[in-house]
Amino acid sequence: MIKFLDLQAINHRLHSEMIEKFNEFLIRGNYILSEEVSRFEQEFSQYCNTEFCIGVGNGLDALTLILKGYDIKEGDEVIVPSYTFIATVLAITATGATPIFVEPGAHTFNIDINRIEEQITDKTKAILVVHLYGEAVDMDKLSVIADKHKIKIIEDAAQAHGAERNGRKVGSLGDAAAFSFYPGKNLGALGDGGAITTNDNVLADKVRALRNYGSIQKYVHLYKGVNSRLDEIQASLLRLKLPLLDSDNDTRREIAKIYNENIKNPHIILPQMPRDEKSHVWHLYVVRVENRNEFQEYMKLCGVETLVHYPIAPHNQRAYSEFKTIHHPITESMSKEVVSLPISPVMTMEQVNFIVTVANKYKSPNLEKNNKEYVSQS
Ligand SMILES: *Cc1c(COP(=O)(O)O)cnc(C)c1O
Repeated sequence: MIKFLDLQAINHRLHSEMIEKFNEFLIRGNYILSEEVSRFEQEFSQYCNTEFCIGVGNGLDALTLILKGYDIKEGDEVIVPSYTFIATVLAITATGATPIFVEPGAHTFNIDINRIEEQITDKTKAILVVHLYGEAVDMDKLSVIADKHKIKIIEDAAQAHGAERNGRKVGSLGDAAAFSFYPGKNLGALGDGGAITTNDNVLADKVRALRNYGSIQKYVHLYKGVNSRLDEIQASLLRLKLPLLDSDNDTRREIAKIYNENIKNPHIILPQMPRDEKSHVWHLYVVRVENRNEFQEYMKLCGVETLVHYPIAPHNQRAYSEFKTIHHPITESMSKEVVSLPISPVMTMEQVNFIVTVANKYKSPNLEKNNKEYVSQS
């Protein structure tokens, strides 16, 4: 079986270095917000080319603390893609603000920038964009809109560590960005972790306090904060993994290119290759298939594990019954058709080629019954 993602193999590359780090950590005895966290913060802000990085407990908290840091609250509106992982939306509703959903474009999975401006009202405080599946959003157009209306741009960069737009890394493209270091992300810890990057010194000071009970100085509390700190042990492991990120992303690009050039099957719609290959880090390689269950079943029988990101859009979730009257046809059809093929820096070329071969042999019985044209062609 080709696993969707082999985390053991990903981390095995640094097995002895990690053991050594853990040994040092154990002997040093500083477990919370100590030198590994501040070194990682320095190194990651340098990597993203931002002035500040603040390590937090996870990606959802990174998003929520940015919104709270900008004082976004009940009565405010935040524009967000309707097609995203639910955490993006949970962060908005956690502050009491209202998410205003905008559909993706028909040919990319990212938010349709042309449909943002019509949603801006005098309540709009921010646009929370998501670099979905690892593809950086086109920020030039977006910055013009945000500047004109004096609203913040916040990046959900949880899937896009290392992606670039015009030579600038995600994390530095808006007013502030949220990263997740969940184990499966392009830069993943061995547990939960997250970070905020920004050039805004006022925001940086505030979220640094918010993550730590609202305090900078022990027992002096400026805000009603939370406990959401990046773990010292996770920071030390992330410092080992950060130097591999660029070459890992290159491997992902290579695999995506092989899939795109070699999967040729009328039943499988491939993702669009970006014009600038640096803008995509292929956290996920997502195709669209009309009879998804059947395709996944077929791939499984061939020994290939596939997953779905994501089967139900946030506004269609039971948790968000207040949005049940919203109907977003592009998002909803994507949710029904998307399938993610394995992509990771530890896959072998045999595995990649095998996946190409079986994908090319896939024939949909249902579709062939209904589509005589295809049958007569093949
Ligand atoms: C993973 C992810 C998050 C949440 O990160 P956690 O660390 O799991 O809380 C938020 N947004 C997107 C797009 C994600 O993929």
